Amino acid sequence: MNTKIFDAHSDVLYKMWLDPTISFHNSPQLHITSQQLKSSGSKIQCFAIYVPENVKIHAFEVAIQMIDIFYEKIINKTPNLKLIRTKEDINHLKEEEIGAILTLEGCESIGSSIERLRALYRLGVSSIGLTWNFANEVADGVLERRGAGLTNFGREVVLENNKHNIWTDVSHLSEIGFWEVMELGNHVIASHSNVKEICNHPRNLTNEQIKMLIEKDGVIGITFVPPFLVENGNATVFDIIKHIDHVCALGGENNVGFGSDFDGITETVQGLSTFSEYENLINILLNYYTDTQVQKFLFDNFVRKFPGN
Ligand SMILES: [Zn+2]
Repeated sequence: MNTKIFDAHSDVLYKMWLDPTISFHNSPQLHITSQQLKSSGSKIQCFAIYVPENVKIHAFEVAIQMIDIFYEKIINKTPNLKLIRTKEDINHLKEEEIGAILTLEGCESIGSSIERLRALYRLGVSSIGLTWNFANEVADGVLERRGAGLTNFGREVVLENNKHNIWTDVSHLSEIGFWEVMELGNHVIASHSNVKEICNHPRNLTNEQIKMLIEKDGVIGITFVPPFLVENGNATVFDIIKHIDHVCALGGENNVGFGSDFDGITETVQGLSTFSEYENLINILLNYYTDTQVQKFLFDNFVRKFPGN
């Protein structure tokens, strides 16, 4: 099977920001490198801008630094890696080309500035995650004890995303915030979240949330974060299959994708410790699903939802 992989979440930029000596080409410190993308079937890789919790002031400046790493050290240094802004860009990728999508993980860096949000769109950001785990000016994250939803500014952010054909990403968002986004948002995804009924973790989604994402024709990126896959012990590739089976059983065959969280995790799934081991997951998936279904999970579902024609 000629596989094409769309991976909706990675933290390569964060790792490269922490350590400027890391090279995207083949550094052993990275789970995802350009060499691995080329040799292991990548077609689209998302790169998240994640400004860490401890950066309180100058958060926007840090976001800009990560965007600079994206262009200077990744796009400009990797032949055949192309920035993706629209679905047309995906459709126009040549055989040997791989697409790169810039995403935002949490709106901490924009504060309460709609101008900063629009500046990020103009710099190439195509997906806006509203929060990380805690509260910001937009909404509360899943670990904020208060558990509130969107602020007035947060509502404005979702509407602005709609207007500019930008994804609104609900991974990390509080449950009340999730339901508000479902009312307001046009292009909704959960880039890296799993099934709560299988693994009771605050970052995972309830059956009701999954059904609503399916109803909105959103996509859920099953993620390889071990504590989001299993409550105890080591996670294996078969645990990932269980989460996929569950979303499919809820009617989500056209709404499942992958958001690995590679380079955002220290612990990895057995047999899936770097991007090049996606192959192990694909081989096992093919034992349970048809080629067409596997290609939907790996690529088609996220592409179908990417804004544009
Ligand atoms: Zn995350």
